[in-house]
Amino acid sequence: MTIDRIINKFLEKHPDEDPTMLRLAYDFAAEAHGGQLRKTGEPYIQHPLHTAYMLAEINADLPTIVTGLIHDVPEDTDYTFEDVEKNFGAEVATLVAGITKLGKIKYRGIERYRENLKKMFLAMSTDIRVIFVKFCDRLHNLRTLEGLPPSKQRRIAQETLEIYAPIAGMLGIWRLKWQMEDICFKYLYPQKFQELEQEYEVEKKAERNQYFQKIKSDLLPRLKDANIKYDLEVRFKHLYSIYLKMQRKDRKFDEIYDVFALRVVVPTIDDCYKVLGIVHTLWRPKPNRFKDYIAVPKPNGYRSLHTTIYGPENKAVEFQIRTQEMHDEAMYGLAAHWYYKSKSEKGMQPMWVKEIVEIQKEISDTSELIRNIKLDIFNDRIFVFSPKGDAFELPEYSTPIDLAYAIHTNIGNQATGAIINDRLGKLDQELKNGDLVEIITDKSRQHPNRDWLKFVKTKRARDRIKQFAKKGPLENIKRFIPGMNR
Ligand code: MN
Repeated sequence: MTIDRIINKFLEKHPDEDPTMLRLAYDFAAEAHGGQLRKTGEPYIQHPLHTAYMLAEINADLPTIVTGLIHDVPEDTDYTFEDVEKNFGAEVATLVAGITKLGKIKYRGIERYRENLKKMFLAMSTDIRVIFVKFCDRLHNLRTLEGLPPSKQRRIAQETLEIYAPIAGMLGIWRLKWQMEDICFKYLYPQKFQELEQEYEVEKKAERNQYFQKIKSDLLPRLKDANIKYDLEVRFKHLYSIYLKMQRKDRKFDEIYDVFALRVVVPTIDDCYKVLGIVHTLWRPKPNRFKDYIAVPKPNGYRSLHTTIYGPENKAVEFQIRTQEMHDEAMYGLAAHWYYKSKSEKGMQPMWVKEIVEIQKEISDTSELIRNIKLDIFNDRIFVFSPKGDAFELPEYSTPIDLAYAIHTNIGNQATGAIINDRLGKLDQELKNGDLVEIITDKSRQHPNRDWLKFVKTKRARDRIKQFAKKGPLENIKRFIPGMNR
């Protein structure tokens, strides 16, 4: 990566601004980190350069990209905050200070998780740009994880999946969220990742490309005739989301990913409707699948036209049609709003950030705070913790039995009770994000209870229970005798 590439990227979206500050920041960082190497063996300066480039990609403003370039200087070099402030002014110095504060996490296990989350929310409510820098910093660290020992790789991947990725989703920065998730997936579930990658990237790819060629040969001449400038992309599905879907719905790969998806980005809203018209005349639309999120945006502000048509060979093809601005907003979320809004509005905070600030004033207890900040940002996954502080990711509404089987088959088979946040809980109780759960086992117990099938949520728990219940005829008889199976 070079500073020139960053400057060019920045000028794409900010053609009238003076990029001199970027070059100065680069010179300063290169001098400060001079001679330092990353664990991968690369010169250290590559890390801030990549961080800054990703910031330019999400249309960050000048002070934010400058911050990306010098974000590790006070922490890792002989230069101080005072040097940063003297050279780059108070705004950049405050941003850099924000990043440094975020990096200092003292605790381990569940306390670390809470402290981390609280710091992220605090930083967001002070200046959301600190979070943009932190995300890009983290993404580059993830991309260079191979330089670290395996235990550290797993810890960083886990932490990213628990904290960074959900918050990126909450801010609507989907591009970063997906990139982070796929790298974490690779390190946390290497085998699953490889299987899916093989299937999706290798086996299906040729088939997919061929099919898109057919669509293009029908569509592109028509767009040309209508004089519409377009950007056409085959929609990228990220592996981790396919994996989650397969787990949740308990389905095979083919059933999940048999849908072709395309995105058309055009200059104006007018063009969006013209493209829609062309698509609908070329192919028969699937009933009830047309959505006009331009006329009626989604509550989170998302805009686009969606339609599904029966393409060649009668296969279903999803189209998303939108302008560049809509596209940037969908990919970069709040970061894009930042870019598209006028300067005067830049102090704006989304509603939920304001709420967090209010809640923080009232509640000093961190665990209480986290419960109050609605954790539905964590989509349909929850994270629970063992007494040792290990985090386990489970689907929503999971129970202590799901956790027990996630830890170990024997723990599941021998589970008799659970202590949830220091209180005695029930085995069918719904777990909540952040719960600290200890499974009580009875070593003399050999088999799971078939009744557990009524409430478990994970495939793993269900499979194990069935497997052990099937084992001997005795077990199958037992369940008809009341009281015997408890
Ligand atoms: Mn860094």
